[in-house]
Amino acid sequence: MNNKIKSLLTTAFILSFVNPAKALEVNISPVAPQQGDTISVTITTDDPDSIPTLNLNQKTYPVLPIDNGYRAFVPTSPLDTPGKLTIQVTGDGTTKNLGVWLKKRSFPVQRIWLSGKASRPATQLELNRVGEFKKLVTPEKYWNGTFVRPNAARVSSVFGVRRYYNGVFANNYYHKGVDYAGSAGSTVVAPAAGKVRLVGKEAQGFHVHGNTVGIDHGQGVLSIFLHLQSINVQEGDFVKPGQKIGTVGNTGASTGPHLHWGLYVNGVAVDPVPWRFGEIK
Ligand SMILES: [Zn+2]
Repeated sequence: MNNKIKSLLTTAFILSFVNPAKALEVNISPVAPQQGDTISVTITTDDPDSIPTLNLNQKTYPVLPIDNGYRAFVPTSPLDTPGKLTIQVTGDGTTKNLGVWLKKRSFPVQRIWLSGKASRPATQLELNRVGEFKKLVTPEKYWNGTFVRPNAARVSSVFGVRRYYNGVFANNYYHKGVDYAGSAGSTVVAPAAGKVRLVGKEAQGFHVHGNTVGIDHGQGVLSIFLHLQSINVQEGDFVKPGQKIGTVGNTGASTGPHLHWGLYVNGVAVDPVPWRFGEIK
């Protein structure tokens, strides 16, 4: 062995102690999330066979492959306590604890007085079918770029509205989507590509949701459209962004024609607005 090689080997040996198994890299976006935001955590590892894991408050989140590594989504909602979140990522034999500050956001408040005549309760059928839909985490990613608006009308109710019922604050309620004031029969389009995984009809027992379409955008990202008049798709159909899926209606527990668009990430209803105005990969 000549001296040059010896010296190179020595340097490599020393470097391996200074910087052992260098690599778990984690990036969090947005850096200053607020309640309702989807936190995107991208992870790169050196060992391609080691699939990283992500935990927050003893809960594990799906980590899925993307172009240059892995990504996990941590959904947040108005029910989450604002303040420090510690996201724990393990991979390449190491664990990183990343502190993220979840900013408090003020949501509009509605006061609702219920009269004696309550609306029809949800049926077990719709609860089961919608519940199963919200659990979907498909490994493939179908969406690309920003989401388009599903209806041309103005927004009549934003995400996250809180309510008082008969003067009592409903701790567990928040408006789980965005409402559009579309007139009856106006077009509803898919906001992004995906696979139709739920079609429910009021006549079959969707008493609260009304005529419903659920689209799986992949990787735990799902859209649900409620109170539709007509439905133009079937379960199993692939839809493109902007493709007509139905029309605005007043079916289910609805007091006038409007479209409710709910966006779920890993089972939690998040604010769709950041998905409309910035690409979340
Ligand atoms: Zn709504």
